[in-house]
Amino acid sequence: MTQRMWERDLGEARARGVRLVIFDVDGVLTDGSIHLGTIPGGGAVEFKRFDIQDGLGIKLLQRAGIQVAFVSGRFSDATELRARELSVAECHQAADARKIPLVEGILARTGTSWEETAMMADDLPDLGVFRRVGLRAAVANAQPEVARLAHWCARSRGGEGAAREFCRALLIARGEWDGLLEEYERERS
Ligand SMILES: [Mg+2]
Repeated sequence: MTQRMWERDLGEARARGVRLVIFDVDGVLTDGSIHLGTIPGGGAVEFKRFDIQDGLGIKLLQRAGIQVAFVSGRFSDATELRARELSVAECHQAADARKIPLVEGILARTGTSWEETAMMADDLPDLGVFRRVGLRAAVANAQPEVARLAHWCARSRGGEGAAREFCRALLIARGEWDGLLEEYERERS
C-alpha cells in the first residue's frame, strides 16, 4: 500500500452522503483470529477479540444518525454478542448466504441506497458488495483486490483500530467530529 493512498481523505461530498456503514467482521472488526476449543462434555467454544476503541467509533457513528450493520460470512455467537452490546440490530451471519441479496434486504429495511452506503472490508468475500457501495474503506492489511478498489485505506490493521480510524475519518470529513466530541465529553464529565 502506498503512502499516497493513506493520505487520501474521504472526500467531503462522498462522506456527507453516507447514511449506512457496513462492517465485515472477521479481519475488519477482528484481526481475523478465531480461537477454537472445547468445554468439558465436548461442546465447542469460539472466542473472538474485538477492539474497544472500534466500539466507541461505532457508537459515535450511531450518535451522528448513521446506521451500522455487520455482515459476516461465518456464524459466531461472539459476533452476535458484540452486535447486541453496540445496539447493532442489522447483524447478519451466514456461511453460504449470497451477500448482495442480504445487503439489499438491509437497504430496504433501513431505507438506504447503495450510493448512501459505506463498507469497510478486508478480503475477497466482500468484493461483490464492496463494488456496489458509494464509499469503500479498506483495512491496512486488506488483500490487494480490496485495497485497489478502496476510496480510503486505514493505517491500522483489522481488529487493531482500523474501524475506529474509519469512523473518525468519516465523521471529520462530514464536519461532525468536533461537535460529537464536545457532546460526548460533556456527558462524561
Ligand atoms: Mg473478512
